Amino acid sequence: MRLIVLCVLLLTASPLSAAERLNVVASFSIVADFVRIIGGDRVNLSTLVGPDGDVHVYTPAPGDAKRIAEARLVIVNGLGLEGWLPRLVQSSGAKAEVVTASKGIAPLKLRSGADPHAWQSVVNAKIYVANIADALVAAGPEDADFFRAQAKAYLEKLEALDREVRDAVASIPTERRKVITTHNAFGYFAAEYGVQFVAPLGVSTETEPSARDIAAIIGQIKAEKISAVFLENISDDRLIRRIAAETGAKVGGILISDGLTGEKGPAPTYIDMVRHNIKALTSALDH
Ligand code: ZN
Repeated sequence: MRLIVLCVLLLTASPLSAAERLNVVASFSIVADFVRIIGGDRVNLSTLVGPDGDVHVYTPAPGDAKRIAEARLVIVNGLGLEGWLPRLVQSSGAKAEVVTASKGIAPLKLRSGADPHAWQSVVNAKIYVANIADALVAAGPEDADFFRAQAKAYLEKLEALDREVRDAVASIPTERRKVITTHNAFGYFAAEYGVQFVAPLGVSTETEPSARDIAAIIGQIKAEKISAVFLENISDDRLIRRIAAETGAKVGGILISDGLTGEKGPAPTYIDMVRHNIKALTSALDH
């Protein structure tokens, strides 16, 4: 009898084999971070667009269809972010359930349609986490207690993170809460926390701005009284110094919008990303 009890204990203590874990594919690094935290070792997680990848323009890799074919769940952002995904799912012949993590958020509009960057509001991230937890519980009911406990603990961290963001923004004088960014990815952050993000007029996000673009940006910064400029695609330091010299605006720093960095980067997790961004904002805007 004692031997049997011991065997059961050993079985429950041993790590799950790959076959026992729930196969989940996440579309990109931010959704993957949530799945990793809630799913822990009960989930066999595979990420299509990993750290530092661009989820907007992803070209599926040869192995992706196979990964999707073997998955029980495919967890995506939705809101049109993964335009390349439906064809991939179809071509894989997958029976996987596609779960939209952003389901239930209040979508904002961009000129081109829904704004997909809903995760930039921590309030929305909590909805993502609740949706992902529900999907994992439905697909792996034997681990329901585990998934719910993981989600609860993480939601508490996100609650604290949301307060951190509000405190950080509150420390910035109201009239200084206005920045320029080239990537129009902070609409949800702006709506939730009250920092204005202005797109540089007539500047492509794809290419290095020309001298004329820089002159236009300088005029815009002065006209709109913008306090800081985050221009991620300007690699020429002289242009950056010219903007700073002619406007007095702070230029520099990087806001991370669409994906996490690798382990050695500033944002290997979602929480790190949000903290990185509030630090970049407060150090550029606090005066
Ligand atoms: Zn984006």
